[in-house]
Amino acid sequence: MAGSLRRQIDLYLNNLFHRSIGLKENMSVIIHHGSIVTPNKTIKDGYVFVNDAGIISQIGERLPVGVQASQTIDLQGNTLIPGLLDIHLHGGCGVNFEKDYQPEVIAPLNNHLAAQATTAYLRTFCAAAKPELEALLLAHAESLKVESSGARCFGFHLEGPFLSQQKRGAFNPEWLHAPELSEVREYIALGQGYIRQVTLAPELDNAFETAAYLNQVGVVAAFGHTNASFELAIEAFNGNFRHVTHVFNAMSSFNHRNPGAVGAVLLSKMVTAELIADFVHVHPQAIQLLINSIGLQRIVLITDAMAAAGMQDGVYDLAGQSVHVCNHTARLEDGTLAGSVATLLECVQNMVCKVGVSLREAVNMASINPARAMHLAHITGSIEVNKSADLVILDQDLSPVQTMVKGKVVYSRESNALNS
Ligand SMILES: [Zn+2]
Repeated sequence: MAGSLRRQIDLYLNNLFHRSIGLKENMSVIIHHGSIVTPNKTIKDGYVFVNDAGIISQIGERLPVGVQASQTIDLQGNTLIPGLLDIHLHGGCGVNFEKDYQPEVIAPLNNHLAAQATTAYLRTFCAAAKPELEALLLAHAESLKVESSGARCFGFHLEGPFLSQQKRGAFNPEWLHAPELSEVREYIALGQGYIRQVTLAPELDNAFETAAYLNQVGVVAAFGHTNASFELAIEAFNGNFRHVTHVFNAMSSFNHRNPGAVGAVLLSKMVTAELIADFVHVHPQAIQLLINSIGLQRIVLITDAMAAAGMQDGVYDLAGQSVHVCNHTARLEDGTLAGSVATLLECVQNMVCKVGVSLREAVNMASINPARAMHLAHITGSIEVNKSADLVILDQDLSPVQTMVKGKVVYSRESNALNS
């Protein structure tokens, strides 16, 4: 699957129809008169030309005379960023991917994500037992065959069941066990090519063999929910574990005599590391330490958001446990953090306003970095020629004005205000 099936799936997901507002189908668009955030520089007073296939075909400074398109969008000094990509999302707007897979149930969440600058995501889930997880994979894979609106789902992240009991976080302990290769193979087959990431703890029996198999079939083996020693973590990173699930959270922590999994991540040379930058899960200065250690290009901002994101405080479900949401924080009854209720844009804003990185650097951490980590950078994740026009206009306060998916407007603050 590593090669051709993966590419077929990418193409298929990229070609799914997207409902648009404001623009007619198959229209070329010029977006200009504002800042354009590309991976390596921000172009002041730049322009982007999107062809009628929804692909970015030109980017530059000041629109040349004579360039014409079916429609023109004036940024009015605002900023154009690539749509954000959340590779660790359990749900939101009441949707819980452990239970909800029906396209009509998920549609409001897709629209909500687009309104919050997220244009693509991975559905993250696990289940109580093998039959349930099999059924869930099948149902989610089928649901991706239906047209969607708003943010696009690019596949699944299996967070479990191959997690450490000691570092299970909010997961129900009865759900967790060591992997059997035959079991993993079945999940991969049922996922029909949509499984992109599997989180597993390297200290479990068969974990290294499983990671090797995942790598072989083009699925990212993510190191996470682990009580691994520093030495074992280094061994995992030298092997087939190329990505880290929410660094600092649910892993053996740093101690000066026992540097743990966190120490291994901080000293790592290759792995990409997910970070929940809601300032509930990780202290801003620990984030600064991470930046100083592994640099800006290997950090992948995620939300780990659950069903309560975008909803009122109350009691919700996550990974087989009841989660109490209060004051923008989600916890089990015993106080354990249980996912977040943040949006990815809030995490970007936090990085800019409180950690002090530039907007371009923060946006990269939530767009091109996750796209590279999940092998999606040939499709989306940045404002570059030949990429899908997944774009967001942000105002001076970093709030979304308009969101496009494949060159079609799927959210507009103006028309939302008119409709409400
Ligand atoms: Zn999670």
